[in-house]
Amino acid sequence: MSKPNILILGAGPAGVGAAYQLTKLNKANVTVLEMKDTPGGNSGSFYEEGLYLDYGSHRLHPACDEAILNDIKALLGDDLVLRPRHGRIRLEKRWIHFPLKASELATKLPISFSMGVGLDMVRSILPKAKSKDLNQENFATLLESKLGKTICREFYFPYAKKIWGLSPEKISVVQAEKRVSANSFAKLLKKVFSKPQNTGINGLPSFYYPKKGFGQITQALASEAEKYGANFIFNARVKKVETKNGTAHSVQANSNGKKHEFEADYIWSTLPVTGMVKGIDPPADENLQKAANDIKFRSMVLIYLFIQQDRFTEFDAHYFPGEEIPITRLSETKNYSDTDYPENLTAICAELPCQFEDDVWNMGEEDLGKLVADSLKKAGIPVQSTVKNVVVKRLKHAYPIYNTGYEKKYQLLDDYLSGINNLLVFGRQGLFAHDNTHHALYMAYSAVDCIDDEGEFDDEKWEEYREEFKTHVVVD
Ligand SMILES: Cc1cc2nc3c(=O)[nH]c(=O)nc-3n(C[C@H](O)[C@H](O)[C@H](O)COP(=O)(O)OP(=O)(O)OC[C@H]3O[C@@H](n4cnc5c(N)ncnc54)[C@H](O)[C@@H]3O)c2cc1C
Repeated sequence: MSKPNILILGAGPAGVGAAYQLTKLNKANVTVLEMKDTPGGNSGSFYEEGLYLDYGSHRLHPACDEAILNDIKALLGDDLVLRPRHGRIRLEKRWIHFPLKASELATKLPISFSMGVGLDMVRSILPKAKSKDLNQENFATLLESKLGKTICREFYFPYAKKIWGLSPEKISVVQAEKRVSANSFAKLLKKVFSKPQNTGINGLPSFYYPKKGFGQITQALASEAEKYGANFIFNARVKKVETKNGTAHSVQANSNGKKHEFEADYIWSTLPVTGMVKGIDPPADENLQKAANDIKFRSMVLIYLFIQQDRFTEFDAHYFPGEEIPITRLSETKNYSDTDYPENLTAICAELPCQFEDDVWNMGEEDLGKLVADSLKKAGIPVQSTVKNVVVKRLKHAYPIYNTGYEKKYQLLDDYLSGINNLLVFGRQGLFAHDNTHHALYMAYSAVDCIDDEGEFDDEKWEEYREEFKTHVVVD
């Protein structure tokens, strides 16, 4: 096989990145099946009332692999701008710059908070009476032993409860170990005091952002892949992956009310791991079906308020860890791209985590608009101009939920899918990884790197990449 036919499932960053790199390097004939009508997945954008809007706050972090970043820069040219981060976090009814600035630590933080953190820091370096049983560790015990009570109770724990819908004791230690970047005082201080790497704006924490919304990145990669010959089929919902003797050979998808069958040498899925296991034909055994039902994703409702004023605030994002305010974050894309148009109109996007089909998921536009307006009033930043319109979007798969004990169940699913020949699973949803867009793109480029000169997939090399993916740290 010199140039295999590869069927990619899903056109988020992982799927689009793979299609781009495979066709650019002329390594495969590529078809992409995507259930929506545009590429981008959770990293896409939509256009409404003259504004490009994202599915929640999205930035391209400078930690992106250099080769990938260079490809994005080459495709977007002057449309990709480097911007200093300029957010605020609401802590004990005060606003503090986020990311934290060393200069504000002493002056802006409430005195009780600063003293509490100081004492916790001293306690953290004193010898501990007895070490804990590692098997009993969870998100709460690990973070509290490393960061003390003050930061945990004022910030991490209420925020975690809102984001994942679980009390911190029910969240796996993995979330704290691998996915909370400042999970010890040493890391926290390093983050605040050291000069951020790969930035470019006077040593300030910065990010890349496209002028036409975050989705311009995936849109550009998809358009280029199409020029190189990739075939994108939109509005095609994957239903089944058919296997014979342990080898995947075709996919069934529904499009415009009709069933379609696609055959391929390799099937590369970036779809949620749970749906993937349930979609294998012949079906996986009961144990696997149960594990697939037990593994859960957190969903999110995004509420966009279109307000008749040039800008709502000067800040790109506001973070709300406190329990009294139900939304977790508010973003204003005009402040990400630094565009002044349209005049006298801006949009703010509020993020409200929930479970798929719960009461929050099912709330109507009017109630959600009111919930956001009430939240902002409580936070001391009320909406003061006319709200022209409220738009609501819903993300079914926003975050993987790492509840205690999820590891064994996920491992079952991963082992099962990894054991199917010619099927490859990757991306944030596929590997159940709380990763950034640049990580999803890196997984895609790595998968392409595993196709050798004969068009064969190098499983050993992929195993090495999988180990590397485990070291990814989420940038928030
Ligand atoms: C609120 C929020 C904020 C974030 N902020 C940032 C940020 O600032 N910076 C950053 O780098 N990352 C951020 N991320 C993470 C980023 O969105 C993801 O890492 C990235 O989108 C993952 O890409 P993916 O291709 O793996 O998955 P996805 O983007 O989820 O793409 C999967 C694709 O598969 C499609 N699909 C699913 N099921 C089917 C089916 N049955 N048939 C056909 N198609 C299907 C979906 O429609 C989708 O297009 C954020 C995520 C969220 C939720």
